[in-house]
Order: sequence, then structure tokens, then C-alpha cells
Amino acid sequence: MVENIIEMANVKYKYDKEDSTYAVNGVNLNIRKGEFTAIIGHNGSGKSTLAKLINSILLATEGKIYVKGMDTADDSKLWDIRQAAGMVFQNPDNQLVATIVEEDIAFGPENQGVEPSEIRRRVDDALNAVGMYEYRKRPPHMLSGGQKQRIAIAGILALNSDCIILDEPTAMLDPSGRKEVMYTLKKLNENGKTILLITHYMDEAVQADRVVIMDKGSIKLDGTPKEVFRNIAEIKKFGLDVPQVTELAQELSEEGLNIPPDIIEVKELVDLLCQ
Ligand code: ADP
Ligand code: MG
Repeated sequence: MVENIIEMANVKYKYDKEDSTYAVNGVNLNIRKGEFTAIIGHNGSGKSTLAKLINSILLATEGKIYVKGMDTADDSKLWDIRQAAGMVFQNPDNQLVATIVEEDIAFGPENQGVEPSEIRRRVDDALNAVGMYEYRKRPPHMLSGGQKQRIAIAGILALNSDCIILDEPTAMLDPSGRKEVMYTLKKLNENGKTILLITHYMDEAVQADRVVIMDKGSIKLDGTPKEVFRNIAEIKKFGLDVPQVTELAQELSEEGLNIPPDIIEVKELVDLLCQ
């Protein structure tokens, strides 16, 4: 049986009692261990609020959230929850605290009271897992944005987290930095980490196992990238783009070509057209 790392049942959240609308409005979402889920949605659709609820930064107004079976409303579980599901934020410069890369990664386990030899092992493992071992003695401010985000990810790995939640980690990066981060996340996922990636890039979302679309605080579509992105008209209603190749494939299909409506990768379409 595959267990759920995150369970959310009818979760609602308001920033202010006086608010007439909920920032998160009745979300039911279970994230299975080992799954790579992308959450997409227009600005203000509640994605960041949802991430903060999972991480116990915010407390649900209604409904229940469990991380590895721990109730996020239980104060005594706060650090266990943040250890189990670590967060990476948009701005890499706000997350790195130390003056040397390896010290930054050691910061979390040090605060947990992990013994020094174990910290050394975890820091080295984490550096290798994100491909940054040779940068371990560098000052973080000398790194590129993509490298800084990889260090932020390594900091979570050093806590032995099962799940990594990333809130638009590539929004401030250039294309090569974005690729580095996606490559790192896919590799970590192949090695068993559960990934919850909030993004507004469709090319990142199509690489996930599962895509969840949020609008006005609730989940509107949830399925594999193919199941979700074929709903072009609906997705556009939420103010989102679909992968260009999906749109092209559907237009070609309307023109009479025998092409399925759920193409999400350029290579798929090229292979079909070249047959
Ligand atoms: P997203 O991450 O999808 O852009 P957010 O979760 O940041 O969406 O925002 C959801 C809603 O909550 C929006 O209407 C936003 O204006 C509101 N909101 C977000 N943060 C705050 C805050 N700190 N105080 C009050 N309202 C907020
Ligand atoms: Mg956000």
C-alpha cells in the first residue's frame, strides 16, 4: 500500500475573519509517497497559502491537514512536520543563512542536535545529491540563482525530509538555472523523495507525475499531465497557458489530422508526424 505523505480534507483558510472570500476554499488533496506533483494556478489562486498550511506556517480556518499522519494543528508536532516536509521559497537570497555553502546546509541538522559525524555525512550526501559538492567551501552569494536553489534543496535533504515543497523555486532564475533545478528535483524524485512543486511554467508541470490546477482557492483539475492539459479551453478560463505543443496538436487534429488530443511533449508530436 502506498501511504499518503500529505492528507488535506476540506481545508479552508481566510487571512482575516472579515474577509468575504477564502484564500483556500475547500481543498481535498492527498499526496502519495514518492509522487511528483506540480501545482499550477493564476496569481492569487491560493497556491502559496496552501503550501504554508501544509508546513504549519498558517493554521487552517476549517478542515484538517496531516503530514505523515501528524496533525498540522498540533503545536507539539511543528518541528517534526517542518522536518518531514521542508519548504523551498522563490527567492534564493532569503533562504541561505551562512557564509559558506556547507555551513548553510549543516545549519538545520545542527539545530536539531544531530551529532557532528552524522552532520558531516548528511552534508556531504546532500551536496552530492544536488551536484554541488565541489562548491562546498564557497560563499553562497558567489553562486548563481540555480546553484543557490540547489543549496536550499540540499539544506532540506540534510534534515532527512521525505517531502520537499517548493513555492515557485524557479521564478527568479534564468533558463539554465531553471533547468538545473528541474533536473535536480527529478533526480531526487527518482531516488524516492516526494516533490510538491508550485510553478507557473507549463514545461515544468508536464514533467511531473501529476498536475493540480487551482483557481480561486480550490482545485479545478487533478490528474496526469496528459489528463489535465487536454482541457485547453477550461485551462485558459483559469488564466493559464497550456503547453504550446498541446494546442498545436489539437489544432492539427481539428484540421483533420489523426492526432490524439493529449500530446504534451514536442517529441511525441514529431514522432507522430514523421511516421
Ligand atoms: P498564489 O500563491 O496562488 O498567488 P496566494 O496564496 O498568495 O496565491 O494568495 C491567495 C489569496 O490570499 C489572494 O487573494 C491573496 O491576495 C490573499 N493573500 C495572500 N497572502 C495574504 C496575506 N498575507 N494577507 C492577506 N491576504 C493574503
Ligand atoms: Mg504564490
